[in-house]
Parts: sequence; C-alpha cells; structure tokens
Amino acid sequence: MRVLVVEDQRDLSRQVASALRNAGYVVDTIGNGEDALHMGLQDPYEAIILDLGLPGLDGLSVLDRWRRKGLRTPVLILSARDTWREKVTGLRAGADDYLAKPFEMAELLARVEVIIRRASGYASSRIAVGELALDQAAKQIYLSGTLLQLTAMEYRLLACLMVNGGRIISKSELAAKVYEQGTEGESNSLEVLILRLRKKIGGEAILTHRGLGYQLTDKAHDPANHG
Ligand code: CA
Repeated sequence: MRVLVVEDQRDLSRQVASALRNAGYVVDTIGNGEDALHMGLQDPYEAIILDLGLPGLDGLSVLDRWRRKGLRTPVLILSARDTWREKVTGLRAGADDYLAKPFEMAELLARVEVIIRRASGYASSRIAVGELALDQAAKQIYLSGTLLQLTAMEYRLLACLMVNGGRIISKSELAAKVYEQGTEGESNSLEVLILRLRKKIGGEAILTHRGLGYQLTDKAHDPANHG
C-alpha cells in the first residue's frame, strides 16, 4: 500500500510519514504543488494526503488538475483553516475526505484506511481469497484461520495481490507498492519475496505470467500439510 504525502511543513510531513510507515504503508513525501501534480499522475498510489496551502501550485489546483486528467486515487485534504466554505470547495474539487489541522494522528490513519477501502470497492476491512483472509485494519493475513508470519514487505506484496483479487499485476506496479522511493535496486528481490511467499502459502497460490507479472489464485494452502 503506497501513500503520497503532500505537505510543505517539514515537521508535520515527517510526523505523518512516520505514522503511516508504522502502520505498514510505503510513503513518499513532497513539499510543493508542481512536483506533487507530477508524482500523483506518475506513480500508483492507494491514497494521497494533500495539504491545501502549498508553495507554487496550491492544493486545490493540484487536486482539480488530477481529477481533470482522470486520476481516481482517493485524496484526503489537510487544511489549516477549518471553515465549512473551504471544506465544501475541497469536496467539490474531488476530495474524498477532509481533515483540519491540528489533528490526531490516529484519526488521520483511520480516515486514510476508510478512503482506501471505499476506493477499492470493499465495504469491510476484511478480504478473503480462497483460504487467505486479509485484515487490513490489523495489517495481518490468515491462512485457513492461522496467522501468517510475514515480514513487512511480504505483507505488502501479498496484501496488494489480494486487494487486486485475481488480476495480473506487473512487476513494476508491485515493486512500487512494496518498496520505498529511491530503492528501485531492491526490485530485483521481488522474485525472492515471491519465492518466500510461495513457501508459506504454497507454490500454486501465486502464478508467474512471463513478461506480464504475477497473479494470485484461490489455491493457497499450508505447504506443510501437503508433504
Ligand atoms: Ca502548508
């Protein structure tokens, strides 16, 4: 799960990014409108947190251009002024939610979770594929009712495959969801992560489509129970 944080106040940006990372997200941060506009359109994000008061291009203009270009990523607006007028303008411009500063980090996390869930079309935070069950709120995945022991990267990879239920996902899209910005070199080990997951949920659970990417099937099982 990858989130973009657009905020020019460095301290706040750092706090938000660290809270999101602790909650299991991959986070990119940017402090100005022009770069935010570009990044939002270039990278596949599950959600974007957008401050309204930005140097250069302001937040509302960025959001307006994203929506005009067809970007459907859910956006949570942050604003220093808690006025109904600004809230209405933000929602009209295509925001999915609105949070006034100062805010509690726990509320921000809960709201981000909700807009991601809503956007992926699931009303519940639990998603099941075959014997696998994903609990997005707890950031845990169960196999036949037993909690899987996964590293943070393994979790993000498997959660991404589950949320996209059955669709083939390209290596570059998966890498974008699993690794932090500027660590592209690590994308070589996507194959290693897939191998490790197959050892935990069975070889047939994840299909490799050469040149296209990976696809989750409903055949996950505990390999230990099948010799
Ligand atoms: Ca600001």
